Amino acid sequence: MTTAHRYRCAACGAFFSSERHESKCPVCRGKVLIHLEGEPRPQKSCGGSCSSCGGCGGQRR
Ligand SMILES: [Zn+2]
Repeated sequence: MTTAHRYRCAACGAFFSSERHESKCPVCRGKVLIHLEGEPRPQKSCGGSCSSCGGCGGQRR
């Protein structure tokens, strides 16, 4: 199996997949993506509890 990521866009609701981490929706270019499958993005600037960064935002809202 390839390492793939699946996302859903919170803005337009589109589902898409990618083999790398995406930061915006290919459909509407929205930046709020819900990570559904794949390895979590490494957290860079938060401790996992900010609920607004790409690493933890999708899980906590
Ligand atoms: Zn979108």
